[in-house]
Amino acid sequence: MTRQRIAVVGLGTVGAQTLWQLSKQDCDVTGFELFHPGHSRGAAGGESRLFRLVEMEDLAYQPLIFRSDQLWRELEAETGQTLRDLSGALTFGIPNEPEMEVGLQSAALIGDRAEVLTHEETTERFPMYKIKPNEIAIVDHGAGTIFPEKTIRTAVAAAREHGAIARTEARITGIEQHGDQVQITVNGETEVFDQVVVAVGAWTATLLPEMAPYLATRRLLSTWFLPRTGASLEGMKPYIRANPNYSYGLPTADGLAMKLGLGFPTHLPIESPDTARLSITEEDLEPVRSLVAEFLPHLEPYPMRMQAYYEAYTHNRHEYIAPHPTMDKVLVLAGFSGKGFKNSPVTGEIAARHIMRIPQSADAQFLLKCAHPTA
Ligand SMILES: Cc1cc2nc3c(=O)[nH]c(=O)nc-3n(C[C@H](O)[C@H](O)[C@H](O)COP(=O)(O)OP(=O)(O)OC[C@H]3O[C@@H](n4cnc5c(N)ncnc54)[C@H](O)[C@@H]3O)c2cc1C
Repeated sequence: MTRQRIAVVGLGTVGAQTLWQLSKQDCDVTGFELFHPGHSRGAAGGESRLFRLVEMEDLAYQPLIFRSDQLWRELEAETGQTLRDLSGALTFGIPNEPEMEVGLQSAALIGDRAEVLTHEETTERFPMYKIKPNEIAIVDHGAGTIFPEKTIRTAVAAAREHGAIARTEARITGIEQHGDQVQITVNGETEVFDQVVVAVGAWTATLLPEMAPYLATRRLLSTWFLPRTGASLEGMKPYIRANPNYSYGLPTADGLAMKLGLGFPTHLPIESPDTARLSITEEDLEPVRSLVAEFLPHLEPYPMRMQAYYEAYTHNRHEYIAPHPTMDKVLVLAGFSGKGFKNSPVTGEIAARHIMRIPQSADAQFLLKCAHPTA
């Protein structure tokens, strides 16, 4: 029997992991990337992403986080590369708010890798974060920083080691299913595959217009702040704060600056990353500067570095992991809604199982059954 020919379109966060997983299966897999693995023009960049064991949205994600944690370790062991720094992270929140209620239940599931602090313990151990009197923290000892660019490059390199082909500077401009085969147009030429995985992030609705009703494409800012003269970042850990005022931050690997990002209301809708505004205005910066003034006043009031990234959101913010609405041989992985990096290994595994018709784990059914409203 001839081996199936599979294409993975987009070798970013999720496509790179999918290519790695498929490269270990009995199929011929080719990846296509618009730019080059590890570029900064999509959703992955800025040298850091948060990995957290503590879940704040839905406990159904918990087993998937544990599985991703295992797969991160597998990729690191296979390649000899360090892809995460798991020195712990903090989860701030107000105990009776829904996110922290889930966070505290998640901490109970994690066991001794999570430590719940009272308000007083939090302010004593982490005085640099100016939390409100009703806030507490969970120390997530299994959490930390993922290195996004290195991860993507490493996953693609590992896939190549297993025999996958990865083509760069290759823009797919058309995907059409004819009968049981899928024709893709790459840099003006057509090629035929048995199945295609599309993982093009913020470009999904541009490449597949039928996906537009399910997605909103948004621009997110990352901003880096130096400590004020005489202050330091010592003792600061990556953090996520559910409320009040959702924000997250990660110290840079060299300890020079703190990278900060804000929540959903600041993620402005755009049409496509190809046409989005690149400049960052003073108005764009105002919310993060207010956060610094109130929550992290030992940081300088103006960022030393800033950059925009692009991400696709679904309307209910659950990942879209499902066949294309009209092409059953095209699997779409999209709408990671600002949270898809930590679980990208398990997403890649679920995608590879779907393509190879390997039964999914019971835990994965949650993601596959997420309903996808069109508005
Ligand atoms: C600023 C920011 C901070 C975040 N922080 C976190 C965090 O701390 N933790 C976390 O878990 N998640 C976080 N996320 C979310 C996470 O980074 C995203 O969910 C994830 O990167 C999305 O992956 P993706 O594969 O869908 O998109 P991408 O990583 O953007 O990959 C899409 C790829 O497709 C390629 N492509 C596009 N069009 C074509 C085409 N036509 N042909 C060929 N290739 C194409 C692109 O070049 C790109 O490489 C954050 C997101 C942002 C933007």
